[in-house]
Amino acid sequence: MNYISTRHGSALGAGGSPAPLGFEDVMLAGLARDGGLYLPAEWPQLSTADIAAMKGKPYREVAYRVMQPFVGGAFDEMTFRRLIAEAYASFDAADVAPLKSLDGNLHLLELFHGPTLAFKDVALQLLGLMLDHTLLQRGHHATIVGATSGDTGSAAIEAVRDRRSIDIFMLHPRGRVSEVQRRQMTTVLAPNVHNIAIQGTFDDCQDLAKACFNDLAFRDRHALTAVNSINFARVMAQIVYYFWAALKLGAPDVPVAFTVPSGNFGNVYAGYAAKQMGLPVSHLVVATNTNDILARFLETGAMTISDVVPTYSPSMDIQISSNFERLLFDLYGRDGRTLADAMTAFRSTGTLKVGANALGGVREVFDAGRLDDAGTLAAIADCRKRYGETLDPHTAVGYAVAQHHRRDPRIPMVVLATAHPAKFPDAVQKATGERPALPPRLADLFQRTERVDGLPNDIAALKELIDDRMAAREQPMRVRI
Ligand SMILES: *Cc1c(COP(=O)(O)O)cnc(C)c1O
Repeated sequence: MNYISTRHGSALGAGGSPAPLGFEDVMLAGLARDGGLYLPAEWPQLSTADIAAMKGKPYREVAYRVMQPFVGGAFDEMTFRRLIAEAYASFDAADVAPLKSLDGNLHLLELFHGPTLAFKDVALQLLGLMLDHTLLQRGHHATIVGATSGDTGSAAIEAVRDRRSIDIFMLHPRGRVSEVQRRQMTTVLAPNVHNIAIQGTFDDCQDLAKACFNDLAFRDRHALTAVNSINFARVMAQIVYYFWAALKLGAPDVPVAFTVPSGNFGNVYAGYAAKQMGLPVSHLVVATNTNDILARFLETGAMTISDVVPTYSPSMDIQISSNFERLLFDLYGRDGRTLADAMTAFRSTGTLKVGANALGGVREVFDAGRLDDAGTLAAIADCRKRYGETLDPHTAVGYAVAQHHRRDPRIPMVVLATAHPAKFPDAVQKATGERPALPPRLADLFQRTERVDGLPNDIAALKELIDDRMAAREQPMRVRI
């Protein structure tokens, strides 16, 4: 399987765009050097018979069959099966992603049974193991630098804690993540985990992380790598549960619809990928909170940036959905050069428009809806009263939006449950009057010791800290990738 950049053929970067890459290099690189996002040159195809043959198989088996074409020869069969089994052994549900029926045709796909209680574990647990495997095999060491507003940070830290081949520096805005989220990061005391609280906002953290990558000497010195949602390996691992849920509901004989609480468009893009691979997905509903740039795009064909508003579903408080570029690539006829120009114009003008034909094509597959904070609390209360299920605020946005986008009531609708309610106890308590309890594996979270460094919003200070820390670490494999 070869991968190309969404901006391939563009004039950006010395000597134009790099040649197509294999899976391991795409996984290690994260972002392409021309500024684009990697995706497979062609979508692997699963026939109706291939899909039918996965019916009744355990999650790990479905995962192997769906992902194998993407990794190609990167891992041998035994190795890849072992990595998958190990990744999902850390989940507290035997079938990894349980599907719960609310009523006859409305279902919840629970993706929060991993170590940090959000769907990001599904991809990151596997990515951490795949990265470590590849790095050890090459005798290399890599350094992850990332910024988080909450969920990504803890999921990435859990994914690589205690791995010999990787150090992780995770920046979070001091005082601006919830206590559960902060403790999930800062109580991991592994020697390769470095938490940094920045005096600033999430955007400041993201700018600092980006500045590290933009300093090429620094980037090469520490072999920086990114595991944020633009990493294609994450999209790949997320495709699996669309197949998994659809198979349970009768695919390939029955089409299935999905509603996905969305921020960076990574999760719902994986649903689009599943459809491109042959899964009968009737349509995908993009559910947003008040930060509704995606919903506005689907209504008007224009993407226009506005200010980010804080909501009860903070992991969706995003204006520029990084993965959306992968969908735009298809809308621009897979022409990397035109897309690169459009993205450059978008960054400078704050607006991007697509034509009526392209918009019509998107609307065949995607619907969108939004829900504000009052609606989110009402949805949590409603689901609890009607079905006895307590939703987290992100899932609640999906649950409410889904009700308005059942194109055909006979088609099963699956709402992706992206976080455990105990991860966002304040909103849940407001809605239901009860504070959800942390699951047993995290019950002592508030008694655990924290370790975190504080820094001002200053790139020189950050680079100095990373340099010092890495110099002090025992480095059996200081070779750059
Ligand atoms: C990250 C996150 C989302 C948004 O997912 P995207 O892939 O960025 O669209 C939704 N809900 C929760 C709980 C999350 O952590």
